[in-house]
Amino acid sequence: MKLKFLGGCNEVGRSAILVDDTILIDYGMKPSDPPGLPLEVEGTVPKSVIVSHAHLDHSGMVPSLMDRGKAPEVYMTSVTTDLTLLLGRDTIKVGKEEGYLFFTEEHVQRMVERTHAVAYGERLTLNGSDYECELHNAGHIPGSSSVYLRKESEDVSLFYTGDIKMGVTRLMESASPADFPPSDILLIESTYFNREHRDRVEQEREFIDSIRETIDSGGNAIVPCFAIGRTQEIVMILHSYGLTPYVDGMGLTVFNLFRNYPAFLKDADAMNDAFDGAQFVNSRSRKKALAEPSVIVTTAGMLNGGPVLYYLKKIHGDPRGKVLLTGYQIEGTNGRRLLEEGCVETNGELVKVSAGVEQYDFSAHAGDSELKELVAQFCKRGTEVVFMVHGEHTEEFAAWTRDNFGCEAIAPSLGEEFIIE
Ligand SMILES: [Zn+2]
Repeated sequence: MKLKFLGGCNEVGRSAILVDDTILIDYGMKPSDPPGLPLEVEGTVPKSVIVSHAHLDHSGMVPSLMDRGKAPEVYMTSVTTDLTLLLGRDTIKVGKEEGYLFFTEEHVQRMVERTHAVAYGERLTLNGSDYECELHNAGHIPGSSSVYLRKESEDVSLFYTGDIKMGVTRLMESASPADFPPSDILLIESTYFNREHRDRVEQEREFIDSIRETIDSGGNAIVPCFAIGRTQEIVMILHSYGLTPYVDGMGLTVFNLFRNYPAFLKDADAMNDAFDGAQFVNSRSRKKALAEPSVIVTTAGMLNGGPVLYYLKKIHGDPRGKVLLTGYQIEGTNGRRLLEEGCVETNGELVKVSAGVEQYDFSAHAGDSELKELVAQFCKRGTEVVFMVHGEHTEEFAAWTRDNFGCEAIAPSLGEEFIIE
């Protein structure tokens, strides 16, 4: 089996792995400004694309592969298909404003036409080839999958965790590693290598206390969230503590879409109840959300566009106001800049934020000990080669794995190729 890494090497963003020049697992972009792209597939276009989940850094560039006549077959869960369509259209819209065009509506449509909706645990043969594929719940966002791929003729198998979360959240059931099939090769995400998550309940309380304090002092608490997964999780947390948020941005569209897929949620009724209590905002009603002390949940989670920039511009000079970041901020994003330099860029203008800035970790990724346990589990069950991807410390993770298990562990570089027999 030949693997070529087209992105996601020593970085979070633009995940893309090419297998035997014929199968692509993920084809994402890096959500910086402008977006970073994965390497192009040289030579023939792959025959099949497997999409682990609908986050731009994994699925964002899949439509660009859909040129007429050579569009590959696409495999992903049903909810991922709907979300990828939504993200594809949004990328076109944002690109028109920002001056880039990676693909057109026709490409996005063709992607949907070529897509096979795959159920968790269903073993299928890819596009008339000798590769078998199986998706498993990755616990990260609704529809997210870890990917098992086996090449029959060589009897070699690969397991790609994708973005993975062990431990339940309000929105999602945990991934269940005990049910994963053993595999010769493991590709593991590394986002939180060497960082442990803080206790969730403790953090929820701090988050809620901070929001209440902001509201009591007459300020607005702005909570930037990813549209997919995080917005719904945060609205559910706020609801359980009796807080009524305003909700703005694509997170609302995604909530309406999730309602159609209750089987991918831990408790669809609990999500619906939480949103029944929320106040929905659009571009015409934003002023109202700021007119009184309030908590506003809005996209984008890393402050790269979306209504959050409107709110930041309005409250940036108000010392009673607060920005409560809800997750990891990728290098090169506005969110990272806010944390490191205390300012954000909007429409080419640098805005200094004197409102409070806090960061919470409502991560949908495995923490350090969970990542290490996962490697241990695979190595004990016969995995011989481990590739560390999707993280800023993949080299250290590979060294840790070599030291502890003596198996081959590699932090691939961008464009690097490996043949595993
Ligand atoms: Zn993700």
